[in-house]
Amino acid sequence: METTETLKTAFALDAGEIAERYATQTARGLADAEVIRRRRVHGPNRLREHKTRSAFLILAHQFTGIIVWLLAAASVLSLVLGDLADAIAIVIVLLLNGAIGFFTELRAARSMEALMRITEVRTRVRRDGQVREIDAHELVPGDVVVLEAGDVVTADLRLVTVSNLFCDESLLTGESVPVAKQTASIAPGTGVADRTNMAFSGTAVTQGLGEGIVVATGMATQLGHISTLAEGADADASPLEQRLDKLGQKLVWLTLALATLTSLAGILWGNSVPEMIKTGVALAVAAIPEGLPVVATLCLARGMWRMAARNAIVTQLSSVETLGATTLILTDKTGTLTENRMSVVSYLLDGNDIEVTRDGSDVSFQVPGGGGDPAGSESLDWALRIGVLCNTAQPDLHDGGARIGDPMEIALLAVAGKADLTRTSLAADFREVRQYAFDPERKMMATAFSRNGDIVYAVKGAPEFVLEVSRSVLSDNGPRDMSERDLTEWRERSDHAASTGQRVLALAMKTAATDDEDPYEGLTLVALVCFLDPLREDVPAAIRASQDAGVRVVMMTGDHADTAAKIAQEAGLGTGTLKVMTGRDLAGIDPATSDEEMRAHVLQTDVFARVAPDTKLKLVSLFQEQGHVVAMTGDGVNDAPALKKADIGIAMGLRGTQVAREASDIILKDDAFATIIAAMRQGRTIFENIRKFVVYLMSCNVSEVLIVGIAVGVGLPVPLLPLQILFLNLVTDVFPAFALGLGRGDDETMSEPPRDPNEPIIDRKRWFLIGLLGGAITLATLSAFMLALFYLDLGADTAVVVAFLTLALAQLWNVFSVRRPSLAVVRNEISRNPYVWAALVLCLGLLAIAMGHPALADVLGLHWPGPDGMLLAVSMSFLPLVVGQIFLVLSYLRTSRGL
Ligand code: ATP
Repeated sequence: METTETLKTAFALDAGEIAERYATQTARGLADAEVIRRRRVHGPNRLREHKTRSAFLILAHQFTGIIVWLLAAASVLSLVLGDLADAIAIVIVLLLNGAIGFFTELRAARSMEALMRITEVRTRVRRDGQVREIDAHELVPGDVVVLEAGDVVTADLRLVTVSNLFCDESLLTGESVPVAKQTASIAPGTGVADRTNMAFSGTAVTQGLGEGIVVATGMATQLGHISTLAEGADADASPLEQRLDKLGQKLVWLTLALATLTSLAGILWGNSVPEMIKTGVALAVAAIPEGLPVVATLCLARGMWRMAARNAIVTQLSSVETLGATTLILTDKTGTLTENRMSVVSYLLDGNDIEVTRDGSDVSFQVPGGGGDPAGSESLDWALRIGVLCNTAQPDLHDGGARIGDPMEIALLAVAGKADLTRTSLAADFREVRQYAFDPERKMMATAFSRNGDIVYAVKGAPEFVLEVSRSVLSDNGPRDMSERDLTEWRERSDHAASTGQRVLALAMKTAATDDEDPYEGLTLVALVCFLDPLREDVPAAIRASQDAGVRVVMMTGDHADTAAKIAQEAGLGTGTLKVMTGRDLAGIDPATSDEEMRAHVLQTDVFARVAPDTKLKLVSLFQEQGHVVAMTGDGVNDAPALKKADIGIAMGLRGTQVAREASDIILKDDAFATIIAAMRQGRTIFENIRKFVVYLMSCNVSEVLIVGIAVGVGLPVPLLPLQILFLNLVTDVFPAFALGLGRGDDETMSEPPRDPNEPIIDRKRWFLIGLLGGAITLATLSAFMLALFYLDLGADTAVVVAFLTLALAQLWNVFSVRRPSLAVVRNEISRNPYVWAALVLCLGLLAIAMGHPALADVLGLHWPGPDGMLLAVSMSFLPLVVGQIFLVLSYLRTSRGL
């Protein structure tokens, strides 16, 4: 059907020829059966195969690290030295290590890929005569795609209808000014940038409406041609993982040096050379924290899932950690803080106000105080009509009565419907000729209709902006001039309604001879409409939670200052009196040049009202310059630059545009502010968990190195056998570390100020804790070893068993020493973490098997150490726990009393 030749010339054909060539009908689209057939021919509409890491690659990755080579070398060495059992045991350790790494990484990779799929772009397409929303990868050539402002184009389209359609093609052409689209054919040979009758995959619709026939999908699109996107940006390791990786690498060299020194010292003290080489290798293997990045990845992936379950879809892994460090949230109002379930409560007309009252599904119009019947009022009649005519809400095809679109517009349709004014009933009189999409700068939208040979422009928008361009007012006796006094009066009425938290919109119109006038000039004001959009119930609590967490919340809305201030007040924003600024106040401010006083004023503001999209960008920069880590919510096409600039861009899943979604790091499925706070809590918990298991793993590893190092250094017998070290490393370290990584956090998580984003994972306090815990475990183990050797006279073999058991148990109990100092010794986030208990039971079980299974015990050099030996090991194993808890209590007292 489509060859490279036809693709090249799609823009040179006229709309009819294109439909014919692609065997489709613009009005009906393709039939389902045909879609299936074409998909078989053309494949899915994807630029690249979704980057799934194959299980084989993940498996291979497990055997590439230095650790594996060390283990393999150790195994070969054992074989050379004639120690078959050791050689086999090391191979088993190697395989087990690989298996754990493999399953962990596989799970993390798969769960992240599944999350990425949730965020796939959707597209509206006409098929079998109906407009449906489908996943963009299901598009086939010949499909008829329906576009509107805010959409990302998902295939190359030859446009067949457009209404004021503009596309941002900077991705393809580098030109940032949106291109106006049209439908006429263009001369063959025209360059991509000038093919104005095409909408290209990957570009964004910034304004207007349109429909086009898919002429190329997947790699056949222009984007496919120039695409070097070999892989998704999302798959990159997050900064946290990179930092952990670096930490791990540093430790590799340190450990290798220590292991070599220990081996040399042992040989100098007369131990057997092969034995010391094996000990050195085992030490190196044990002490290298090879699990760090893997556990961190698992932890982040798990956190992403938990966030997804709470309706926050994270598209960038690194956002999880940035969320934990966020210090300021710039939130919009409508739909995020409020319900976005609007209902019209009144119409303010020339001369009187009309209340809209509801009784069940019945709606009636009343003049307050019973002052007459509004039926027959010409201005009310026009107000209702404009509400229907200047409206882009569409009927929902899946639900007969419902509509899709802006809730404010749906509310207008609902009220007019009760007065029997619908699009269908008006269609006989009004034929639509043009639509002027909502202009976020001028805060108005318009439609033009032909009626009895005239053109009627129906306009709605923010009152200040509509009033500014209104020259007359519609009274029940027809239009009359708008005097200065009228203007002031209307402004006061609008402000009064806004100050009660209502959202106010102005409706206006004009009649002209042609349809090419500026629709926003010389208008006749018809009415102000007031909507009720209640605050979401959970918002005040969420705002309090963010304040407790040291995170400032600032409102940044396109709405009126008074409406915004009232809602902000109900939500509990700010401290003391609310500080409000409007877009006009901000107009002259440039973050780079404005003076200190002005800047300080802006930085203290709680509510920014009537802000234009470019002001949002300025504000984000300004707050960032002050050292804030900024999270910002947004939904419109024009919010995209600010969303990108913010440290965390948060887009709305329900009402947001695709463009905003593509530009952001987090998508709120329910649009709710409380979800941001829940996600932030997750972000903080994850970072805390990662810190916990790093401290845990490292203190365990330090103890292993110190025990063998010190013993060998001072000429004692070697207290741990190489295979024992490997066993401990595998059993006692890994499972509790995983359990810590899965913790759900605690109540304190959100009562601390945000973390400094530059703070290292392991700060000085934590290094000290690692040293202290590692030192305490070493002391306990060596003491147990020496007591068994010299006091209980249990013999060298049994003393080794006692040392092994002391170390194994002490490492298990050590998990309780990484708790938060401010929580109780017994009831804290660790003791409440069920995974920790499961890990302990599992590890104790494995230890019992290692001791009890004859063959295993033989290989590991283990046996029953007698009641005295056992008692000694168990009691000494608690020493580090006691030391750790004393330290935690002291450090808590020190910080809480400011000592
Ligand atoms: P927020 O920024 O908190 O989401 P908002 O919805 O009021 O609030 P915008 O979408 O920027 O912000 O709208 C700004 C103003 O423009 C609105 O307060 C309203 O007066 C007007 N407006 C919004 N949508 C439309 C529309 N579809 N038609 C006409 N006017 C609109």
